[in-house]
Amino acid sequence: MQRSLAAFKEYGKTPPTQRAAFLEQIAAQLESRREALVATAHEESRLPLPRLNGELTRTTNQLKMFARLVREGSWVEASIDKGDKDIRKMLVPLGPVVVFGASNFPFAFSTAGGDTASALAAGASVVVKGHSAHARTSEAVFGAVLDAIRESGVPEHTVQHVLGPGSTTGKALVMHPHTTGVGFTGSFSGGRALMRYAAERERPVPVFAEMSSINPVVLLPDTLHKNTAALVKTFAASITLGMGQFCTNPGLLLALESPALEVFLQQLGAEVSQAQAHDMLHSGIADSYAEGVKDMLDQEGIAVVQRGTGVIAKVAAAVFLRNPHFREEVFGPFSLMVVCKDKTEMTAVLENVKGQLTGTVMATEKDLEDHSDIIALQATLAGRVIINDAPTGVEVCNSMVHGGPFPATSDARFTSVGATAIKRWVRPVCFQGFPGHLLPEELQDGNPRKIWRLVNEQWLNT
Ligand code: NAP
Repeated sequence: MQRSLAAFKEYGKTPPTQRAAFLEQIAAQLESRREALVATAHEESRLPLPRLNGELTRTTNQLKMFARLVREGSWVEASIDKGDKDIRKMLVPLGPVVVFGASNFPFAFSTAGGDTASALAAGASVVVKGHSAHARTSEAVFGAVLDAIRESGVPEHTVQHVLGPGSTTGKALVMHPHTTGVGFTGSFSGGRALMRYAAERERPVPVFAEMSSINPVVLLPDTLHKNTAALVKTFAASITLGMGQFCTNPGLLLALESPALEVFLQQLGAEVSQAQAHDMLHSGIADSYAEGVKDMLDQEGIAVVQRGTGVIAKVAAAVFLRNPHFREEVFGPFSLMVVCKDKTEMTAVLENVKGQLTGTVMATEKDLEDHSDIIALQATLAGRVIINDAPTGVEVCNSMVHGGPFPATSDARFTSVGATAIKRWVRPVCFQGFPGHLLPEELQDGNPRKIWRLVNEQWLNT
């Protein structure tokens, strides 16, 4: 962390062009090692090769997206007021940050993944705590980052990499006085532990933890009746995608009781049981999935629809509402259908689930007209509300929100995917009465890059 602080003192001041070139250089280094990286990740994570190839492409695209953002420059939200006093503001990097690699994304949410890319774009230095489930992949990716550091001339310790148990190494990193922020994707208990450590420090720091989400999907009656086969295909694929090891996995389904719902459930069960099974990411996840399914199926009033590659179960809304256990995440290909007698029950169920990454509504035009209140309710629960699409598949773009109210994440004001993920690693600083030459380049008069969003001199004059 001392090295990270020393690196930050220089790296935090690098011009945007150099920072952008560094991010692009990391992408290029990863690309040049693609075959070896994908092979190692495949050995360690057991994830299929096409998925890993796609994930690596996503990772390099994220790095390039942040390079474009930094070059363009308006993300710093520079603003200048020339009223009675000269007051200017912009976002500046926090300092050294710690990033925990996630088990379920060996590339895109790990060593050179979205957390690291957004932090580096912001001007923060990074210490990565690699995940033990893909330690060799993590080290190989770090090798690519080291070459990029050398090529682009940024300070040697701008990015560092350590391996070790979370409860000792991870804790020490979060507790270290030089650490100014933490990024994490993983279990609720892990995320909560990091939040506790950070809060117990003499100087508490923010932890951006993405932890647990069951991503409720409401299947409205008209579409359930008219589009049964298409809904079965979409949700069987989404529930079993990557053996359900996605934070946006649809773990909770809601529908009104009807003959169409029974047909849907039977077909969904059959389709899910036929999906191709593969090993889970690591034995810990496999064990906790088996335990989670057992605990869930032990609850009173639950009925198994089908057990195969995935597990589909159902429960009456009244039973769901009496037992908080049904709101818990089972990480893997498990989905629970809550059968509601009427819209009042459906509303009560949604009001009783916790904060979510996503909320989905499957609907025809008629359904949308009849259920606008259900859509509004989903938006109060989740960071991303979806109409007529599966929640799995998170696109990396400016408008993406991959976040949501607790416990989906530790701070609903931020996203961990997309360009605005950079906001987690900055703070606003106001420069008052500064002579021009002492201002950051972004705030200087006549800055040729013209990135100011707001010059409110005129507001003050009127
Ligand atoms: P995890 O156990 O939370 O581990 C993630 C990282 O946090 C690891 O580096 C781990 O260190 C560290 N860690 C865990 N507990 C800690 C603690 N008390 N103090 C300090 N560091 C700690 O997550 P996982 O290995 O990815 O999978 C376990 C479970 O997490 C899954 O079964 C699933 O329930 C959940 N999960 C959820 C999501 C999601 O997006 N919602 C994604 C992945 C996993 P170690 O190296 O010591 O393990």
